[in-house]
Parts: sequence; C-alpha cells; structure tokens
Amino acid sequence: MSVNIDKNKTTVNLDEQKVYMSRVAKIVKKRWERPAACVVTYGCQQNVSDSERIRGMLMCMGFEFTDNTGDADVVIFNTCAVRGHAENRVFGNVGALKHIKQKKPDMIIALCGCMMQQQHVAEKIRRSYPHVDIVFGTHVMHRLPEFLWNRLTGASRIFELPDSDGEIIEGLPVHRDGSVRGFLSIMYGCNNFCSYCIVPYVRGRERSRDPEVIIREAEQMVKAGYKDITLLGQNVNSYGKGEPHGVNFAKLLRLLNEIEGDFRIRFMTSHPKDCTIELLDAMKDCEKVCRHLHLPFQCGSDRILKQMNRHYTKSDYLALVEAAYERMPDLNLSSDVIVGFPGETYDDFLDTLDVVKKVGFTQLFTFIFSPRQGTPAAQLPDPVSRDEKVKWFEELLKVQEEILQSKMHDMVGKTYRVLCEEPGRMEGLVCGRTSGNMVIEFKADISLIGSFADVKVTNASNVIEGELVQKIS
Ligand code: SF4
Repeated sequence: MSVNIDKNKTTVNLDEQKVYMSRVAKIVKKRWERPAACVVTYGCQQNVSDSERIRGMLMCMGFEFTDNTGDADVVIFNTCAVRGHAENRVFGNVGALKHIKQKKPDMIIALCGCMMQQQHVAEKIRRSYPHVDIVFGTHVMHRLPEFLWNRLTGASRIFELPDSDGEIIEGLPVHRDGSVRGFLSIMYGCNNFCSYCIVPYVRGRERSRDPEVIIREAEQMVKAGYKDITLLGQNVNSYGKGEPHGVNFAKLLRLLNEIEGDFRIRFMTSHPKDCTIELLDAMKDCEKVCRHLHLPFQCGSDRILKQMNRHYTKSDYLALVEAAYERMPDLNLSSDVIVGFPGETYDDFLDTLDVVKKVGFTQLFTFIFSPRQGTPAAQLPDPVSRDEKVKWFEELLKVQEEILQSKMHDMVGKTYRVLCEEPGRMEGLVCGRTSGNMVIEFKADISLIGSFADVKVTNASNVIEGELVQKIS
C-alpha cells in the first residue's frame, strides 16, 4: 500500500478539491468515531485503477477502509457498463443497501463509473433508488470531495454526469490495493468505436499522459517496492498519437525499461490494428517487459470483424501473432472472444475456433454477445437463439481447455523465474507468477512474497505445482 501526491502537476481544479478534502475531513471526524468507507469495484483494470484514486481521496479525508458495506459510513460502487449482467448485479447490490441505510440513515451511498455515465441508468437510479445520495460520472471522479462535502452539509441528492471528451487530471492521491503488483494508467478513453462496445461513449476520446509523468510515477512505484507494474489503457498501442512529444508506446516501453530496479512491466489492452512490429521489437529488446501479450481478436470471421468495426482480418491477426512468436518464441498470448455477435453463423464461429487452435492462447476471456444500449450492434438483427450460442460457447471452452492443459503440461520439468505474489491455497504454499502470466504454486515461506524466485514445475493438472529452486531477489 502507498499514498502519494504528485505536487508538480496539481491543477486549479485539484487545488479546489484539496480544500474540500480538508473540509470533509473535519466534518467526518465529528460525525463518525472511526469513519469507514467501502469502495466496491466492478469491471476492468481501469476501474480498479480509478478506485485506487477514489480510495486515495477518501484516505486524505480521514476514512479507513472496510470490505463490508454494512460496516461502512460511505459506500461507493464504481460500476462497469461493458456487460448486462454486471449492470444487473449493481442494481441488485444497490437495492440491498436500502435496508442497511434504513438502520444507518447517516450513511452516504455514491455510485460512479461507466454505468452511471449512461443517461437511462442515471434516470433509473433517480427514480427507483431514492436512498442513493450521489451519482457522478467518469469525467468528474476527481470532484468526489466536493460532492461529499455538499451532501454532508445538506445538499439534495447529487447527479453530476457531464458529457465530455475527457481530460487528464494529474496529481490525485492514490491508495493502491497491493504492495507487489500495481496498475499505472498511461492513457484514458478510446477512439475506436467497436460496434458492440459502450466504452467510447462513456470514457471519452483517447488522451495520453505525458511520458515524464508516467516515468516519474513508475519510479515512485518501484521505490515503494512494486515488482510488477501493469500499464493501463483501453488501447495502449495508440499511446502518444498526435502528441507533440513524439513518444509512442514502443518508445515508452523502452524508456520505462531503463528505470533502475528489479521489476516487471506488463500492459493491457492492445488493439491488433495498432500493434506494430516496432512494438514487438521493443518487447523483445526490453528485459523488464513480460513475455505476455493480451491481444484481443474477438472473432475469427472477416465478415463479422468488419461488422464489429475492428479494422483487421483473420489473416492480419495471424500474421501479427507469427511475427510476435518469431521474435519471442516463449511469448504467451491471451485474448478476448465474443461468441454470437448479431448475424454470426456457425461457419463464422468455426473461424474463431480456427484462430484459437492456431494461436494456442494460454488464457481466453470468453463472452456471449451482450447488447449494449446505444451501440450500433444493439440495433442489428440477431436471429441465432441463446441456446445455440451457449452450445458454440461451450465448444470454444472445451477446445481452449485442451490447449491450456497441453501448454501447462509442456511446462513440467522446466524452471521459471516467478514473482512470489500471495499465499497459496494452503498454509506453507506460495503463488508465483511467471513472466508469461502463468501462476505456479510451490512450498515456501510467505516471507518470500514480494521476491523473485526460480521455481521448477513438477506437476500440472488443475493448477501448476512446482518446487523452489532458489530465491533471487
Ligand atoms: S478498442 Fe473497441 S473494444 Fe476496446 S474499448 Fe475501444 S471500442 Fe471498446
């Protein structure tokens, strides 16, 4: 865990928010004996990273943290709009808070994140969830202290959901969850408008942070003991586009690789259309950059890829993978796949299976198409039944499971450098992650957590098991 405030780039807005932070701190100290906040995060790593900033602000306002909404004085749900079932879960969980708030009327409930940025959702909350105090959108997260202060001093319910292309707010305090692995956002928003995706509508246009600011934050993280830094962005491959500094993502990786210290660099997500040979060369050359590439292909059918507005074909994707394996034969690839996009046929789906078999992913994030209101794909005719899609989905899972088993089996007898990250399933076991993002469980003392170690894989069935060869650093 660490808290830092980047003083050099404090904006006017933030100065104002710092005043609100100290005002809120005074109020909550009087109002609650030990002010506690619970921040619940839904969705992707970008949301996890945003929640770390929300916690940073709350910590500066005098809050401690609890995982239990019932114990909290302030509950914040940082929501996700990418899939329908995550949205339903949020509505269910917000509904459940009604009874808690009846017993604790002082409690403040706030909702934020991508889901709230959609007008129809905010309207539903306004109408049907009167116990919710504050709803704020993705572009005004930094104004949480102001919203809290207004509500704590008697303002009526707050709905602050401006539409915007977005800006970059530097200098927010950060309260990171872990102490070994950490996220570092390098850019925000997306310009791609994949036809099924709500993100560009709720997160604004692409904007990249300055490379010096990113490097400074990475240096601080290394100094604080982080050994695995994941660079975040909706499409990191377009980092720096249109910026006068001329640092693209490949160059950024090279700059970060020069930071002194024993640590690893990961990144996500990479759009195949912007994944360049220059980037693959940088990955190959930079010893701190992990041998893992998350490169979502979504679908193997050119016809459907076109409808998805993805701007590459199956053969473009496979050529990219080949170029990546040529440079890094030990590279592990992972991907996102959507099954049952509107109009997809079984033949289209077979193209998806073909890509999965040809590439040999170590991890697949698989989803059945979920229409998102306001996106072009939600308007398309979708004649294939849900049952049929579930059958395709299960077929895909079966193929992937066989591939994974064979990949895991290939690891047996080999020694990997792992970062020891957390205790294993039983006492006396530790989990370590390879550069290729595979987790090995092995016998070791938990004091090893946070160190690198060499581990030999001894068995691979449901989990990968190994034995400690030596601690490295
Ligand atoms: S690249 Fe496509 S899928 Fe990814 S966030 Fe942007 S629009 Fe959504």
